[in-house]
Amino acid sequence: MPELPEVEITARLIGAAITGAQVESVLTPGINALRSFDPPLNAIEGTTVTGVGRRGKLFVIDFDDRLHMLIHLMSAGRLQLFDTCASLRDRTSRLLLRLTDGRELRLREFGTKQAAWVKLLTDEGLAAEETLTTLGPEAYPDPPLLRPLLDAPRPLHALLRDQRVIAGIGRSWVDEILWAAKLSPFKRGADLDAEEAERLRAATIEQLGRAIAHYEQVITLPIPDKLPMPLMVHRRNGEPCPRCGDRLEAVFYEDYVMCYCPTDQTDGKLLKDRRLSRLLK
Ligand SMILES: [Zn+2]
Repeated sequence: MPELPEVEITARLIGAAITGAQVESVLTPGINALRSFDPPLNAIEGTTVTGVGRRGKLFVIDFDDRLHMLIHLMSAGRLQLFDTCASLRDRTSRLLLRLTDGRELRLREFGTKQAAWVKLLTDEGLAAEETLTTLGPEAYPDPPLLRPLLDAPRPLHALLRDQRVIAGIGRSWVDEILWAAKLSPFKRGADLDAEEAERLRAATIEQLGRAIAHYEQVITLPIPDKLPMPLMVHRRNGEPCPRCGDRLEAVFYEDYVMCYCPTDQTDGKLLKDRRLSRLLK
């Protein structure tokens, strides 16, 4: 599941590789991932890539001619750069951006859902794009003070994943951040004191920075289908906590799992496993 660190490393590597390259053609095979109609997609044919950036969990690819491509990978997308062009029969391909030097940038999507999307926008369109205008401040590298940001009667686990509150954190890295900050996922944002909020901010910078530094060491183009996420807590329930050695626990939800260390985060209390309690009803 691509979150801020995964999108950041992808944007850095692909940006360094294709900035200055010229677009030959663009295709959207299969179910159309394109969610915009004006300007038309072929408006970027013949333009030059001027940069690849990240906003929250989204990519923004800039082209000369004041055009921008916004890409959201959703839960199972990947942006990958290859030296040759794909077979159009590759069912994972959602967008193929062919460069005049023979390379190809691909938006691919794995799994059954086809949710990843692309928009081609002008300068004005980008400035007005709601997906971006509603984003909260970036979680990395320098998030603002969290105490006013998280001042809501909602659990931290939900608040930190809410892109309107703070941008870039999802289901994997939220577990690492809360564990590093020694805070319960169910603690309400409004109940954080100033010291806890500062600890959480430091943990956010540290964990996302740790992930990006790890990827800088191990990831190369074309960007692997599955990134080796250096997670210490998420989906490691049943294993010993890397800090205190106690058993990591989990709460299962319909489509995700929340992992934590009871000793470090919840005063030893086990949080209610909703899946289990539903089964037992
Ligand atoms: Zn622990």
